[in-house]
Amino acid sequence: MATSSDEGFDGSGFEPAAERGDAARPAAAERGDVEPEFDELHVFWITGESCDGCTIAAAGATDPGLEDVLTGAVPQLPKINLHHPVLATEWGENYVDEFRAAMRGERDPYAIVVEGSVPNEKLISGDGEDGYWIAMGEDENGDPIRCVDWLDRLAPGAAATIAIGTCATWGGIPAAEGNPTDAMGTMDYLGRDYRSVLGLPVINVPGCSPVGDNFVETVAHVLLYAQDLAPLPELDELGRPKWLFGETVHRNCNRGSYYEEGDFAEEYGSEKCLVKEPGCWGPVVKCNMPSRRAVDGVGGCMNVGGKCIGCTMPGFPDKFTPYFKEPPGSTISSAGTKILGALMRPLRRKSMSNLDRETRWDEESSGIGIEERLYEWYHRRGANYDTGRQDFQRGEAD
Ligand code: SF4
Ligand code: SF4
Repeated sequence: MATSSDEGFDGSGFEPAAERGDAARPAAAERGDVEPEFDELHVFWITGESCDGCTIAAAGATDPGLEDVLTGAVPQLPKINLHHPVLATEWGENYVDEFRAAMRGERDPYAIVVEGSVPNEKLISGDGEDGYWIAMGEDENGDPIRCVDWLDRLAPGAAATIAIGTCATWGGIPAAEGNPTDAMGTMDYLGRDYRSVLGLPVINVPGCSPVGDNFVETVAHVLLYAQDLAPLPELDELGRPKWLFGETVHRNCNRGSYYEEGDFAEEYGSEKCLVKEPGCWGPVVKCNMPSRRAVDGVGGCMNVGGKCIGCTMPGFPDKFTPYFKEPPGSTISSAGTKILGALMRPLRRKSMSNLDRETRWDEESSGIGIEERLYEWYHRRGANYDTGRQDFQRGEAD
């Protein structure tokens, strides 16, 4: 079986599908046959090398929930017909037939979601008869239709192509050192210049597993954009939604104040900053887990005692291993905060104990010491201190 991917994909990973000219359907820009606004949309879920964890994450989304999007509970979204290998009610040929119909242009408009990494089928010689890594269904000759075949055939005509999870975005765990399939992300396979019918690159929602809300919210945003009801989703240079992946984990971590004071955990179970023990990568990792949390505002890595291992990043997992070791770059910065923190912590404690008293108590207390007097003198110089009230309490007011 000669397939488009065999002819076009050279293994380098950055050749756009349109330039390869090998798609079974014409490139989206040439077709121009999909209206930007529509009442109904098919979504085809293509699985590569995956553990189905991203499906579980998406199913756990609550803000908005997957079922809200599918049942039309979110106003203005088109009706969604989801073709998902786990959630579908059809099976066997009936299930694959819908994908075939999309290939023939009979299910426009449609979007595709990719879960799992894309194997390099070129490593296996021949047209599939010698074996393949991932496939779903068979063609008219009884040959397996591989994951890359589905991508070649459906991506050019898709209104949007969304990669869910780190395997589909960057290759993830199946692409780790030593993997036999030369696995890669969807953007590497389709090319960075790939554009969907709506003019969008591959939209990447990474995470292992991703925050379900991040994914469903991104889908909803794209659909609203397609309806002309929302602006173009802001994506970074790697196709990540900027509003979700623009900040580091560290920025929103609830242990950040410990880091600032150089107060680091020394054992498991500590509520302090985890940068040294067990070794957190949060300061350099783009992810919104600490603020969005895992499911319905609950859980999520350091919120429940875990550290950041960088699972949303293109370098994951190889660049973040061994996991339970202090990140090499953190030695200098954490030493700096440790020195500063040693000075800052006692001063803050002093401020805290002073601010933990009513001003009336200060006046009434005969036992106020020299340290407290000094602090009061210092504080009175600040704009926030109500000197009039203090004078009044002392009987010095007019
Ligand atoms: S636990 Fe990690 S993300 Fe949180 S403050 Fe410490 S280094 Fe930053
Ligand atoms: S905080 Fe780190 S380990 Fe947790 S989901 Fe985000 S990137 Fe992954």
